[in-house]
Amino acid sequence: MLQNLPRVISDGPLSPAVSMLLKGQVELLPWEQLFGNKDETISGIYTFGHPLLDGKLMDNVPNIKVISNHGVGVDHISLMDAKARGIPVGNTPGVLDGATADMGFCLLMAAARRLVEGDRIARFGTDQSIKPRTGAFLGREIHGASLGIIGLGRIGLQVARRAAAFDMQICYFNRKRRTDIEASIGVSYKPLHELLATCDYVMLCVPLTDETTRLIGADELRLMRPTATLINIARGAVVDTDALTLALTENWIYAAGLDVTDPEPLPKGHPLLKLDNVVIAPHIGSATVQTRQKMAELSVQNLLAGLAGAELPSRII
Ligand code: NAP
Repeated sequence: MLQNLPRVISDGPLSPAVSMLLKGQVELLPWEQLFGNKDETISGIYTFGHPLLDGKLMDNVPNIKVISNHGVGVDHISLMDAKARGIPVGNTPGVLDGATADMGFCLLMAAARRLVEGDRIARFGTDQSIKPRTGAFLGREIHGASLGIIGLGRIGLQVARRAAAFDMQICYFNRKRRTDIEASIGVSYKPLHELLATCDYVMLCVPLTDETTRLIGADELRLMRPTATLINIARGAVVDTDALTLALTENWIYAAGLDVTDPEPLPKGHPLLKLDNVVIAPHIGSATVQTRQKMAELSVQNLLAGLAGAELPSRII
């Protein structure tokens, strides 16, 4: 045991930014430590890469004062179990909205304009296939098209701002209407099924909860236009992967852009990986140098505050 340093369990490997900030502040112990015998010397848990954390594991470290998550989405942590045990949980909302919305737009544009498919042809195609031909590589227009945002929260709002600059008509679906900002942002509310049936682009920005798990399944995909593109920057399980694979294979919809998948990562040889009309990123929505630095700072501030028994700068429960 390092003298006087609070003992914290974390999944790794941690990013250099997080490691640097934790250096000399805590004694880090590996995630496997949670699965051993009860350990009363552990003061905190730091989650970096979405490891599952439930009450059973929390009970193995009965003296923890805080759980700090590197990221805003906390679907991998049982908040109910943490609350029942009086453990504060911190996350990093706000600092990653712009970067994640940028990624949503990257995926929207790449899928609509067949950018990745085109890149593959430019690199590996034959002279014949590279030559621009009438009718080849036609994508779908982005400017002036309609976008439906499912989950107009912090990230959804940033997506709307970007869409407005592309002269898109923007609508959204939330459980609660945002009449306070509809006019100033230039968005209109639509019930879910109406949004799905009328939009050229549908972007998912909701948290993963019981209610949003497989929110988009076969019925919802069948409602979408054959010319529509689905973008998921939320969590993979918000979409039914088998239904999406079928929808893209049978062209119920035009394309998809996914930063997140279920399972994640997709196993090698998965049918989605064989389709040209889907662009897939390996969950890198917030992965910019600047944003990851801010996430590291806020999550470490949350951890250190909790360890000191102080209020967390960003506490979810
Ligand atoms: P937020 O500010 O809480 O916004 C979430 C929005 O979703 C709210 O507007 C909420 O409105 C809506 N919502 C929640 N449940 C809903 C439901 N059942 N049906 C319809 N709308 C619902 O959260 P955020 O900071 O924007 O983050 C959203 C999620 O993005 C995170 O939880 C995380 O999973 C994901 N994320 C992904 C990445 C990435 O790397 N791809 C990065 C950051 C975050 P109502 O409460 O009115 O329904």
